[in-house]
Amino acid sequence: MATSLTTPKLSSFSCSATFTLNSLFFPKSLHLSRPYFLSLPTTLLSLSHPRRTFAVRSQSQNGADAPPHYDFDLFTIGAGSGGVRASRFAASYGANVAICELPFSTISSDTTGGVGGTCVIRGCVPKKLLVYASKYSHEFEESNGFGWKYDSEPKHNWSTLIANKNAELQRLTGIYKNTLKNAGVKLIEGRGKIIDPHTVDVDGRLYSAKHILVSVGGRPFIPDIPGREHAIDSDAALDLPSKPEKIAIVGGGYIALEFAGIFNGLKSDVHVFIRQKKVLRGFDEEVRDFVGEQMSLRGIEFHTEESPQAIIKSADGSFSLKTNKGSLEGFSHIFFATGRRPNTKNLGLESVGVKVDKDGAIQVDEYSQTSVPSIWAVGDVTNRINLTPVALMEGMALAKTLFQDEPTKPDFRAVPSAVFSQPPIGQVGLTEEQAVEQYGDIDIFTANFRPMKATLSGLPDRAFMKLIVCAKTNEVLGLHMCGEDAAEIVQGFAVAIKAGLTKSAFDATVGVHPTAAEEFVTMRTPTRKIRKNQPSEGKSNSEVKAAAGV
Ligand SMILES: Cc1cc2nc3c(=O)[nH]c(=O)nc-3n(C[C@H](O)[C@H](O)[C@H](O)COP(=O)(O)OP(=O)(O)OC[C@H]3O[C@@H](n4cnc5c(N)ncnc54)[C@H](O)[C@@H]3O)c2cc1C
Repeated sequence: MATSLTTPKLSSFSCSATFTLNSLFFPKSLHLSRPYFLSLPTTLLSLSHPRRTFAVRSQSQNGADAPPHYDFDLFTIGAGSGGVRASRFAASYGANVAICELPFSTISSDTTGGVGGTCVIRGCVPKKLLVYASKYSHEFEESNGFGWKYDSEPKHNWSTLIANKNAELQRLTGIYKNTLKNAGVKLIEGRGKIIDPHTVDVDGRLYSAKHILVSVGGRPFIPDIPGREHAIDSDAALDLPSKPEKIAIVGGGYIALEFAGIFNGLKSDVHVFIRQKKVLRGFDEEVRDFVGEQMSLRGIEFHTEESPQAIIKSADGSFSLKTNKGSLEGFSHIFFATGRRPNTKNLGLESVGVKVDKDGAIQVDEYSQTSVPSIWAVGDVTNRINLTPVALMEGMALAKTLFQDEPTKPDFRAVPSAVFSQPPIGQVGLTEEQAVEQYGDIDIFTANFRPMKATLSGLPDRAFMKLIVCAKTNEVLGLHMCGEDAAEIVQGFAVAIKAGLTKSAFDATVGVHPTAAEEFVTMRTPTRKIRKNQPSEGKSNSEVKAAAGV
């Protein structure tokens, strides 16, 4: 589960490099011109991690000007997934590292955050806990066909869920703090701001560093429409004082769908408003169709091609959402899941010359270096692939590049990902549309079936699975699933896709029976063959659905 994605396991550290305690504690040539409050890096006293000499010594051999000495080899701003990973591995390679982070709160702001970052406090972890909570209602329903009867309708207590969730977040943020401490990273609470290419200001105290890492992540974005102040974002949606009775979710991305599933499972009346015809732009088209249909069957109402224009508060305290198509009333909550923006405002980036794009994301090269050579950036703030394991990979690669003499580029090929909607989605590799564009000739294998559990539960649940194969090389280019356990299944198959395995290798693999996952190794006949400059052979998406009785 998500905590294992993010809870680091410390590798043992040994380093034979010189330990220059004196030069690190008593810098002789500080390059700062402004008043300087000397901040002794107390974690250096942790001798379990002897320091290597990344901080340049104060006196050079030939009597030339001494290169500058810094408080730290690395100063990281933001202790989320990417920042923590980079910092603790840098420390394990012998670097002298400090990290700053805002004080803890479940709601992020300019002045609040918390060690662990979005994933732990306002993202993957609390979201998945709420997904678990919401799935029980379907399971109670499913269990009837298997002989279970309940004397009364099971009741859910929202306050218990939120209190238990918050206790777990406190436990996790504590684990993160300990991990940093055990790695010898100095944790400084406060807001970091870059003053010059080697100096960070944290609430009035200045720290110098050879390298600065910006890993400040992002925050939810709500468009500027009338009544915007009545809307909630994903931070608030994860920590509401009471369960929504009727909620409008604006947005068709993965966060919107996950929350639609959560509130639907917890018996709220859920309406999803999307600008386009379909949910999940960028996902495989068949998966987009399939998940929308399955979610509708569970009672979620989709309002397609509807853009919000205003939120109006009624005298009874409820809200209406005005869109280009009309107005819908009686909502207890209006939740905007309309994307996130990097936390780059008022961070001092412009003044030192760090380039950002039009959305405020920091521009970096393949090694995560910004336009200022001593300043680096990883994670959501760079808006590459905004997922926790990707931020971890980028942080890890950076630590190797800077402190292990091993220049390492994060590898963005075949990054698997999941949507914890209900049913969930797992995917890795190319979509059909991308594969056609990049390879031209491809074979598509699909399965659309009623899982065994649904036969007795009587529910209309189905599963969809898809393999995309290069006709020329037989390599499996993409693998997609929407159905129970999709995320877990796809994580396993992602190794095969990353390794570039062929369809023949899939065919030669024996299935585990009876599972849904075995479909991926038993699909023998292509659903359709797509050839450049030739009409496709086989069945279209709608023909497959008709044949399956959907
Ligand atoms: C609702 C939701 C669900 C998600 N679900 C998933 C999922 O299931 N799987 C997945 O892989 N990803 C998921 N994500 C995305 C994932 O959370 C992010 O990709 C990941 O947290 C990015 O890590 P990061 O280190 O870049 O930034 P963050 O984790 O956001 O960390 C940045 C940190 O910097 C701090 N900070 C900001 N400014 C300053 C400053 N000036 N000084 C000091 N500190 C500062 C912030 O307080 C924060 O703690 C989800 C995100 C959301 C919002």
